[in-house]
Amino acid sequence: MKKSIYFFAIAAFGLFSTSLMAQNSTKTYVIDAGHGGFDKGSNNGNIVESEYSLELAQKIQQLAKKKNINVILTRDGNDNLDLQARVDKMHELNPELVISLHLNNASDRDKKGAEVFIKNDNTDANTEKIGTELAQLVSMNSIENRGLKKANFKILRDSKKPTFLIELGFASNPTDAETLKSAHHKNQLAEKIVQFLENYQAI
Ligand SMILES: [Zn+2]
Repeated sequence: MKKSIYFFAIAAFGLFSTSLMAQNSTKTYVIDAGHGGFDKGSNNGNIVESEYSLELAQKIQQLAKKKNINVILTRDGNDNLDLQARVDKMHELNPELVISLHLNNASDRDKKGAEVFIKNDNTDANTEKIGTELAQLVSMNSIENRGLKKANFKILRDSKKPTFLIELGFASNPTDAETLKSAHHKNQLAEKIVQFLENYQAI
């Protein structure tokens, strides 16, 4: 009797762990490369926002693939994807969370640093916590942390899942632009964001 209970327990655990594995491998994360096509986003100096966000999104996807994390991009080329199409894709994919990548731009060239936006009417403390964490994560190599902010952007407002719009720095600020352009910084951003997804997946 004892023996059969033991075998039953082993079999049940086997089923349980298999289903856990299956669950993990089907979790999806959406990375949205801001702008694209004729909408280049901020385009001053020698950084074009739409190209920058795509390059970083692709880096993140490649790195994530190596770690068996399922990252799907809203655009994987220089497509002209409007905000509604992005939101539709997010609804269809039903991801764990969405990260939208952007560069900031201001007429005041002294404005600098990275910031993360979540939706205006967010009441979820965990989303605030994650947003604050993401702002810290992307603030490095001379990019200052401007912290977590709220905004009424369509992509935040219409998303059904936790969505974080990251302004990685000001393309209009010479110091930020220099840092953002460096291969070292771009690689570190990709690594840190994938590490974040890996930790999130483990929760
Ligand atoms: Zn943008």
